[in-house]
Amino acid sequence: MTPADRPDLPAPRRILLGPGPSDVPARVLRAMATPIVSHLDPEMLVLLDRIAAQLREVFRTTNRLTLLMPGTGMSAMEGAIVNLVEPGDTVLVGTCGVFGRRMADIARRAGAEVVEVEAPWGRIVDPDAMRRAIAEHRPRVVAIVHGETSTGIEQPVAEIAAAARDHGALTVVDTVASLGGVPFDVDASGADVVYSGSQKCLSCPPGLAPITLGPRAEERLRARTRPVQSFYLDLTLLDRYWNEPHVYHHTAATSLYYAMYEGLRVVLEEGLERRIARHAACHRALLAGLEALGIGLASDPEHRLPVLNPVEVPDGVDAHRVRRRLLAEHGIEVGAGLGELADRVWRVGLMGESARPNNVLLLLAALERILREEGARCGTGAVEAAASVFGSAAD
Ligand SMILES: *Cc1c(COP(=O)(O)O)cnc(C)c1O
Repeated sequence: MTPADRPDLPAPRRILLGPGPSDVPARVLRAMATPIVSHLDPEMLVLLDRIAAQLREVFRTTNRLTLLMPGTGMSAMEGAIVNLVEPGDTVLVGTCGVFGRRMADIARRAGAEVVEVEAPWGRIVDPDAMRRAIAEHRPRVVAIVHGETSTGIEQPVAEIAAAARDHGALTVVDTVASLGGVPFDVDASGADVVYSGSQKCLSCPPGLAPITLGPRAEERLRARTRPVQSFYLDLTLLDRYWNEPHVYHHTAATSLYYAMYEGLRVVLEEGLERRIARHAACHRALLAGLEALGIGLASDPEHRLPVLNPVEVPDGVDAHRVRRRLLAEHGIEVGAGLGELADRVWRVGLMGESARPNNVLLLLAALERILREEGARCGTGAVEAAASVFGSAAD
């Protein structure tokens, strides 16, 4: 018996089908129970090297400066921008949702002159418009989100990065939602700084954020005329902890590093190609099931981000109530709509460990039943339609 004023830790079993976090494999959770060592322990320094090598594989890059930022995806977003930008610099941001707007907000806070090229929600930022804006404004930094989690679109970036390079600008790309679930090749993309998050398609616990900087970005760090405004996110100082001379900067969150190492091992054992194919199959099956119900997605069909599906809420249905029922009756979490899509969509994430045929089928069965009970006029046969997409490939 536990006294009422010291209740047990709540430990509900969830199936995480929202915009992140995603389900974490048991062996990754177990890795966090490994005894703590200090941040300068020789074994810890070996671990840093191994994690950096894993990150290079996942990012598909040979960039030397590749490490984990000490925080969630936002720490990498903020770190990427504040390390490259000095007050008065021009920063061009392509925005088509919440996360692009955040990049612009951070750049403004860092004292930059921010120019935004905006796209309607559910569409990509037009690469031609970006190219024209780069030629016109001559920014120091161009920032763009690869997988916009608020709208479920996948943004082509290579053309934008090439235009930026032609005009001497550095390109920053946000792959927080997409890395490990959708193809993204850092070296082929031409991007100078790419960051991600731990808890989306990489299925690690939240708390650390992969980032990689190419040689031109490193050069920018050296050429700064004033120190980075953030001590904690200063990449030059983080570099000196991760690499020689291994100087103390902050106490590493050891348990999260263990989880990251084990989680990236899971990713690389599966192999990026197979992992990406698994995400794509789950997306196709979800679409087939939704189609049977007569439900569509709010994103441009030509640029859909398979790992995040903005599912349109049928007319007359209370979006919030359905989400609550999925959680209460099935332990399934899906995300609410954000910004302009609030109340209009559910954001169904199929990320990392969560992207499994069983989860897709369970979600569709639950959704079909709940929508019928809520009085929505929907079709039937969602599970059968999805199952036929998996065919014999279902695991
Ligand atoms: C989730 C997300 C972030 C923010 O990451 P946090 O881990 O929540 O800090 C940034 N960009 C995109 C595209 C995201 O999906």
